[in-house]
Amino acid sequence: MADIIQLLPDHVANQIAAGEVVQRPASVVKELLENAIDAGATEIKLVIKDAGKTLVQVIDNGVGMTDTDARLCFERHATSKIKKAEDLFLLNTKGFRGEALASIAAIAHVELNTRQEQEEVGCQIKIEGSKVVSQEPSVAPKGTSLLVKNLFYNIPARRNFLKSDAVELRHIIDEFHRVALAHPDIRFDFYSNNAELFNLPPSNQRQRIVNIFGGKTNEKLVPVNEVTEVVTISGFIRKPEFAKKSRGEQFFFVNDRYIKSPYLHHAINSAFEGLLKDGLQPGYFLFLTVDPQTIDINIHPTKTEIKFDDEHTLYAILRSAVKHSLGQFNVAPVLDFDS
Ligand code: ADP
Ligand code: MG
Repeated sequence: MADIIQLLPDHVANQIAAGEVVQRPASVVKELLENAIDAGATEIKLVIKDAGKTLVQVIDNGVGMTDTDARLCFERHATSKIKKAEDLFLLNTKGFRGEALASIAAIAHVELNTRQEQEEVGCQIKIEGSKVVSQEPSVAPKGTSLLVKNLFYNIPARRNFLKSDAVELRHIIDEFHRVALAHPDIRFDFYSNNAELFNLPPSNQRQRIVNIFGGKTNEKLVPVNEVTEVVTISGFIRKPEFAKKSRGEQFFFVNDRYIKSPYLHHAINSAFEGLLKDGLQPGYFLFLTVDPQTIDINIHPTKTEIKFDDEHTLYAILRSAVKHSLGQFNVAPVLDFDS
């Protein structure tokens, strides 16, 4: 019998990997914004057209890349963020898998412009379906611009799978909210079809929430603060009387990374028990800081799920911290009355 196994060519492997990392335009937005943050940017501009289907561009003022790195960043498993497996448990970057840009470049038209501060000339690279079309010097501003056009141009089945512009834009705005909330110190500017949707100046946690969700949000927030050996919790919950039907304002961040956790969500729900009318959802913006050694982020390609060493303790601390804040809030009207 003849041998029948062969190694897949890189561009095919990249396209397969892309299926996990890039589900829709919002996935591209998330990966590019996270790269900009990892590059130390203090100002990030996001530009999209047609809900990201025809264009997603992220421009940052971060450290930029050398010519060689600019070429290498599109290779699979090419990353500057970890060197060995143990580094996974000391992470202070969003990225570490080195597959986002390789995946995106496999399924779109990509143009990279980048320049490091000390260099006079930068570098421009164009890639289509994993193939480098051109690489030349460019007079880019300091930092990096990544432009992603015609997502899924070479995978019609995936392109047809995309939802309406309204739905895809909603997903993009959700990702934008998550990143912008986790980094209130960074300036964000967001344009969709040439209209400015968000212009967020650098500020603090509370002000960032208000800038995103509107001025009236401020009076509806109650702070949550708790410091224990296992976890430091900061952030805000929405007063129960302002609870909404939608689940739109439920945010957990662990070490500045947005994560989904039905289990911790349950802890909040249980703290709110008896305070919410039927069908209403608690609103929360909670930032947990834990020792990176006590979590595993590498359990899913999109890195929105985390495995905690001790979930039960976290649950109990979170629940009691939220209950404590709710309790304080209940006293507040009486104090107001006296003063
Ligand atoms: P990861 O973020 O997991 O390392 P990516 O494919 O997202 O993988 O990026 C690959 C590498 O390209 C990064 O490790 C980084 O060195 C470089 N890079 C990507 N985006 C930027 C950027 N905006 N500024 C500077 N370097 C970048
Ligand atoms: Mg990345």
